[in-house]
Amino acid sequence: MSDTSITLETISEVRPGADAHIRANRLPVMTGSDEADLNCGGCGQAIATGTSPAAFHQKIQTDQRLVVECTCGALNVVPTA
Ligand SMILES: [Zn+2]
Repeated sequence: MSDTSITLETISEVRPGADAHIRANRLPVMTGSDEADLNCGGCGQAIATGTSPAAFHQKIQTDQRLVVECTCGALNVVPTA
């Protein structure tokens, strides 16, 4: 169990070409050793465990807004640090 649990902000739709859109086929999409979990703003499941927003961005390497579609269909924005 990590120290910090972050519930991600959800949006209603992806901006084609302007967002980096990741579809989660299973959860969590990322695991790490940070003291943070990122939880879906829709269903509360862990999108990423042991992963800070900054670490998530570092792995995906995008300048676009990072949107993770949960298995529940919610579109979660991973904030920039
Ligand atoms: Zn969800």
